[in-house]
Amino acid sequence: MKTIGLLGGMSWESTVEYYRIINEEVKKRLGGLNSAKCLLYSVNFAEIEYYQRTNQWEKAAQVLMEAARKLQRGGADFILLCTNTMHKLADQIQGAVDIEFIHIATATAEEIRKANKKRIGLLGTRYTMEQDFYKGALEDYGIEVLIPTEKDRELIHGVIFTELCLGRINRESRKEFQRISRDLIATGAEGIVLGCTELGLLVKGDDGVVPIFDTTRIHAQRAVERALEV
Ligand code: GLU
Repeated sequence: MKTIGLLGGMSWESTVEYYRIINEEVKKRLGGLNSAKCLLYSVNFAEIEYYQRTNQWEKAAQVLMEAARKLQRGGADFILLCTNTMHKLADQIQGAVDIEFIHIATATAEEIRKANKKRIGLLGTRYTMEQDFYKGALEDYGIEVLIPTEKDRELIHGVIFTELCLGRINRESRKEFQRISRDLIATGAEGIVLGCTELGLLVKGDDGVVPIFDTTRIHAQRAVERALEV
């Protein structure tokens, strides 16, 4: 079994989910007392969030590149960056190490393609929904990306940083997410991408109309597949 390197803490609320899903998946596949071999480097999210908000992405890159090197030195065979947003820096992080970097949007795009969907609604931080680094990665797979209105993007971003990343699960926010998803479906979305690793804490399962692509689950499952490959 290969050793999974988790670059997490963004936020730790979702890193816990990665750890849980990865171990559940290994247990499901191998049975008994089997569990994942993994290393976790967990950053201080306050520092990263400050760099995001103040547009100091280069400083965030330095922190994450150093963390990735530490995972490599510690013996990780490949790396997962446990946040969609920070994939804005994927090329730099990948460039800092010699081991494989499993890209969350690429893994998600492959799942969308497998499900035969061509147009999806994307929910995530403002950075993820509005900038090109994430949408572009999906579009490279021929997937059309729909995003919520300006007002709803503001709402989603706020819920992520002032509720979910602090472990607050709010029923009213869940209803708002259901409404926003319905709006995206009404404009043609054939699936909803939970493009933020905390969103699975709020949005549970499919709504019955279109599939939900939970990036945390997809990414974690991909890691297990890679770890168990011979
Ligand atoms: N975990 C989130 C994501 O997947 C948001 C936190 C962050 O900005 O890294 O984008």
